[in-house]
Amino acid sequence: MEEIKRIGVLTSGGDAPGMNAAIRAVVRAGIHYGLEVYGIRRGYQGMIEGDIIPLDSPAVSGTIQKGGTILQTARCKEFMSYEGRKKAYDCLVSFGINAVIVIGGDGSFTGASIMSKEFDIPFIGIPGTIDNDLYGTDYTIGYDTAVNTVVEAVDKIRDTASSHGRIFFVEVMGKEAGYVALRSGIACGAEGILVPEEKGQVEKLKVYLDTRGRLKKSSIILVAEGEDYGGAIGIAKIFKEQFPEFDIRTTILGHIQRGGSPSAFDRVTASRMGVAAIEALLDDQKSIMIGMVNNEMVHVPLNKTVKLHKDIDHKLLALTEVLI
Ligand code: ATP
Repeated sequence: MEEIKRIGVLTSGGDAPGMNAAIRAVVRAGIHYGLEVYGIRRGYQGMIEGDIIPLDSPAVSGTIQKGGTILQTARCKEFMSYEGRKKAYDCLVSFGINAVIVIGGDGSFTGASIMSKEFDIPFIGIPGTIDNDLYGTDYTIGYDTAVNTVVEAVDKIRDTASSHGRIFFVEVMGKEAGYVALRSGIACGAEGILVPEEKGQVEKLKVYLDTRGRLKKSSIILVAEGEDYGGAIGIAKIFKEQFPEFDIRTTILGHIQRGGSPSAFDRVTASRMGVAAIEALLDDQKSIMIGMVNNEMVHVPLNKTVKLHKDIDHKLLALTEVLI
């Protein structure tokens, strides 16, 4: 393998708070170890179009506390074809870049894994997605901040719910994964948590609302958007029909969950992962994702993280059986 002197870093897929902290760590660690670091703007789109800029240490000053991504992100159809990836490769060669660090989710890692096989170029992944649904890591960058955002919003909804004696179905992000709903639901003291991974919850919730729920002044039910019955709106419809006597409302938190200043936890995790990604490259690793397992940085093959499914945290799920 060619000696690595100049690397590229990009953010791809959905944005997540803490991505800037990861970019900053990649730049600072790269420079620390004598590499030149280039920022590839708008994910794989920028790789194809040559939207590539040099990044020095001052370029990432004052970014650790910022949400979003200073490199911007994109979803790029062209990269899904061999021709698109060939264009991207030619562009990297013309800039003298011979390794890439990708901050993103499993789609981004699928692309990285394919391209690293086709063109013999090392790709290191850093998990950045609020969904926390990547195999091989306990935490993804952005998850902790998103959970804190949900908790803050639901605490406010709780005030109005209890004042009016209402039941609120609050929809949070998570098309295929209930991590955000589960963790924030526990933190908010939700009366119900509906996640795509667990079946039979609606029947349980009906029993709960018909019995103990009636003794309460109000209830908050957290619903992951990918949950089977059509998210919060679908679920609320079912409950309105079954319990016409209840004052039932729906709130969809939406994209506020993606934004905002990253939590200290996300900043530190992103910083650790950024440094670990550079160290992995220098250690001749290719086609791996940096993960965090039991508070340690680990290497997970990219093809494994994209193929294997991360299950919901059953220990957290079991807690809800006791606490609700
Ligand atoms: P999030 O979890 O936030 O959605 P993600 O990384 O999974 O992030 P995707 O939109 O699935 O987001 O993927 C981002 C980009 O990765 C795509 O726009 C595309 O350029 C590339 N990509 C995804 N899947 C593939 C694939 N099968 N082959 C090549 N490239 C891919």
